[in-house]
Amino acid sequence: MSGQMIRPRRQPGMRTPRREFLKAGFGTAAALALPGCASMGGSSAGKVVVVGAGFGGATAAKYIRMWSNATVDVTLVEPNPEFISCPMSNLVLGGSKDLAYLTSSYSSLTARHGVKFVRDTATTVDAERRVVKLASGLELAYDRLVMSPGVDFMWDKVGGLDNADAQSRILHAWKAGPQTVALRRQLEAMPDGGVFAISIPVAPYRCPPGPYERACQVAWYFKRAKPKSKVLILDGNPDVTSKPALFKKAWAEEFKGLVEYRPNYVLTDVEVATKTAKFDVQDPVRADVLNVLPPQRAGAIARSAGVVTANDRWCEVDFVTFESVKVKNIHILGDAIQVASGMPKSGHMANQHAKVCAAAVVALLAGQAPNPAPVLNNTCYSMITDRDSIHVCSVHQYDGEKKTLLPVPGAGGLSPAMSAAEGAYAFAWAKNIWADMLA
Ligand SMILES: Cc1cc2nc3c(=O)[nH]c(=O)nc-3n(C[C@H](O)[C@H](O)[C@H](O)COP(=O)(O)OP(=O)(O)OC[C@H]3O[C@@H](n4cnc5c(N)ncnc54)[C@H](O)[C@@H]3O)c2cc1C
Repeated sequence: MSGQMIRPRRQPGMRTPRREFLKAGFGTAAALALPGCASMGGSSAGKVVVVGAGFGGATAAKYIRMWSNATVDVTLVEPNPEFISCPMSNLVLGGSKDLAYLTSSYSSLTARHGVKFVRDTATTVDAERRVVKLASGLELAYDRLVMSPGVDFMWDKVGGLDNADAQSRILHAWKAGPQTVALRRQLEAMPDGGVFAISIPVAPYRCPPGPYERACQVAWYFKRAKPKSKVLILDGNPDVTSKPALFKKAWAEEFKGLVEYRPNYVLTDVEVATKTAKFDVQDPVRADVLNVLPPQRAGAIARSAGVVTANDRWCEVDFVTFESVKVKNIHILGDAIQVASGMPKSGHMANQHAKVCAAAVVALLAGQAPNPAPVLNNTCYSMITDRDSIHVCSVHQYDGEKKTLLPVPGAGGLSPAMSAAEGAYAFAWAKNIWADMLA
């Protein structure tokens, strides 16, 4: 445990004075960004701890360092040694990409940007004392805490899956990594003529189009390697929740006879031994490979910090700063938040939350007012084959009267049809967003 990590307790209401912030060096503190110097003492414009180095957290950590000209001290806590992207992970199931393609290093965040990377898990937050406790016992003090812990699965909502053995056999692969590879292995081991069934929870869940993209990728694999097989989509929702016409067209034409879509299949139980899914109303379905996406909620650390305020699942925030509506000085980003109208739980959106939050945190630590009218955008590509894609995009503007983000009418749109040109854009999107958050 590093003694440097704990700073003296601040008096309630005490802020970092603007003069100290400026003195610390907008434009003059480049040395603080050098590797090895980041944990040095001396003047700092404030201490920020970021929990979770996914799409929201990694972006926030980098941009707080960049936009404070390396004067704000940023510590990023993450248990995983490398970043593995969920976007594009369905291509691993299709077989056209591998895990290495999805994997990036965190090293530039430390070496180039002076972020202190702590490989650990945040276990509790003492909001009074402004201290985050880690599994190792380390305590990190903060002026502002940013958390982007993603989602946890509500295993108690699916009977039969509330134990480790069941979860190791009926996979979700909804957090990219070992499960993505394991699900691919299950598909490879499945005989031709078998059934792959994917169960989709009632919205909201991480990445609305992701399950339908997955169905396409598995169908793309079956079309080539196991043409007598079938993809069965068992959707808890009354209809496809994103890009419905485009996905349905792909299933009817590109994957004719391979994909069957069934709405209103709300999963209640799984019989693990027989890979049978059971529903609240519909008849049970047996599959050769059963992929269950359980209902989701904000990651556990949000609960422990007391910032889960909506439905006992999500965190409500002030969209000008992404600060919790309940606990001061804690900002929440990404999938964990209660979204505004028309806002998906996506990596692109988490990246945008992070930039609005980073700018606000830098301003607040300098005693300045944050931008009162942020604008965010989102684009979600879905790969239909190994090279063809479709997209949906939207723009969201803060409405000061309604105090929320609202979709800007006419500013978004959908692909007219799947195409290889959009596929090229999708690969470029992935490369660019990974660089934007990590390089
Ligand atoms: C199959 C699939 C396809 C997708 N495709 C797309 C796409 O094409 N485009 C798109 O925009 N989005 C896509 N998404 C959605 C995207 O992955 C998520 O919306 C995004 O990851 C959310 O970012 P986040 O920061 O909230 O969470 P994450 O990126 O999951 O990051 C959370 C991080 O927090 C860490 N963490 C959690 N708890 C703690 C703790 N207590 N202490 C320390 N660290 C902690 C985790 O280890 C993790 O690294 C897809 C998702 C899936 C599953």
